[in-house]
Amino acid sequence: MALIVQKYGGSSVATPQRIKNIAQRVVKAKREKNKLVVVVSAMGDTTDNLIGLMKQINPDPPKRELDLLLSTGEIVSAALLSSAINAKGEKAIAFTAHQGKIITDDAYTKARILRIETGKILEALDKGNIVVVAGFQGITSTNTITTLGRGGSDTTAVALAAALKADICEIYTDVEGVFTADPRIVPEARKLKRISYDEMLELASLGTKVLHLRAVEIARKFHIPLHIRSSFTDEEGTLIDK
Ligand code: ADP
Ligand code: ASP
Ligand code: MG
Repeated sequence: MALIVQKYGGSSVATPQRIKNIAQRVVKAKREKNKLVVVVSAMGDTTDNLIGLMKQINPDPPKRELDLLLSTGEIVSAALLSSAINAKGEKAIAFTAHQGKIITDDAYTKARILRIETGKILEALDKGNIVVVAGFQGITSTNTITTLGRGGSDTTAVALAAALKADICEIYTDVEGVFTADPRIVPEARKLKRISYDEMLELASLGTKVLHLRAVEIARKFHIPLHIRSSFTDEEGTLIDK
C-alpha cells in the first residue's frame, strides 16, 4: 500500500463540478489500495478576491488579520472536497492547519513550516479516511493562523509528504506538466518528461509559478518524488526525482 499526497490548485477546484471531478479521481486512487492525503488551494480567484476585499477596508491591513482572512479560502475547499468524497461513498475528513498541526514561525504572509505533528493525520488514515488538508496555511506555536506566501499550497503538500514519508507527491494543476517556458505565453514550449530537483529549483527561483520555490527545496532535501500533472486529463506530466 502506497502513501500518496496529492495537491489540487485553485483552477482545479474552481467550481462545484470540478470539485466533484477531483473527488472521483481521489476515490479512484484510494480504491487502487492507496492511503491518500489531499491538499487543496482556495477555489479559483478566491485569494485575490479576499485581498481585494481587505484593501477596500484597509489598504495597509495588519498582516495577522490578512492571514486570518486568506486562510478561509482553503478551508472552504477542504470542507467541500471532503464532502464530495463522502458523497461518493468513501470516508474522508478535512483538516485546517490547526487541526493538522502544521506549525510555522510567525512571519505572517510568508511563514515557514517548522514541523508537522502528524499524529492526528496518521490516526485518520489508519481509520480508512482520505485526509483532506487546507493548503497555504499554518499555525504558530501560540495558535495564530499564518499563510505561507502566494502559491504556498505546493509547500504544504511537499512538507506533508516529507513528514509522512509519502511515496510520491502529485501536484495537479491546469497545465500538463513543467514546460520549457510558460505554455500559456509560449505555445511552442515543450513539456519536460523528467527533470532534476536542481533544474526545477532554478526554474522556480526565476519565478516560474508552476511550483512554489520552497516546495522544491523541501522535495530536494527529503528526496520526495514530485509528479506535476494536469487535473483535467490523464496524461503523464513531469517527474522530478533526481
Ligand atoms: P495552481 O493554481 O494549480 O497552483 P499555478 O497558476 O500556480 O497553478 O501554476 C500553474 C501555471 O504556471 C500554469 O497555468 C502556467 O501558466 C504557469 N507556468 C509558468 N511557467 C511555466 C512552465 N515553465 N511550465 C508550466 N507552467 C508554467
Ligand atoms: N490560494 C493561495 C494563492 O492563491 C495558495 C495557493 O494557491 O497555493 O496564492
Ligand atoms: Mg500554484
